[in-house]
Amino acid sequence: MPIDPTQPYDDQNIFAKILRGEIPAKTVYDDDYAVAFHDIAPQAPHHILVIPRGRYVSWDDFSANASDEEIAGFVRAVGAVARAAGVVESGYRLLANVGLDAGQEVPHLHVHIFAGQPLGPMLSR
Ligand code: AMP
Repeated sequence: MPIDPTQPYDDQNIFAKILRGEIPAKTVYDDDYAVAFHDIAPQAPHHILVIPRGRYVSWDDFSANASDEEIAGFVRAVGAVARAAGVVESGYRLLANVGLDAGQEVPHLHVHIFAGQPLGPMLSR
């Protein structure tokens, strides 16, 4: 069920539980600002989710309310994760779903990294 991106942050969302170590994840990156782990239902040979450590519902919330330090740290982490995955040369796609029309399912900001094959058109037609 897509979420309302204007809702208050829900500390019981699945990515909050991953950040607290309450449920497992295949973590590939971890620093002061971000954590990255494999998507549980990969849609490409590489499908990694990068999330900020802070309590942000969506890109809208994060871009409006995160500090400059958090934003810089998160953006740098996304790049570092892609480099560590070795996908810069072959190419990759970033995706952040926000709200209902985008089909955002988890109410904690996450950027998808897709790579490892030609990724097709940007949007389904
Ligand atoms: P979105 O539709 O952008 O909100 O994407 C949510 C993503 O989270 C989907 O690609 C799910 O497969 C993924 N996901 C849901 N639960 C987990 C989990 N426990 N560990 C890793 N990925 C998950």
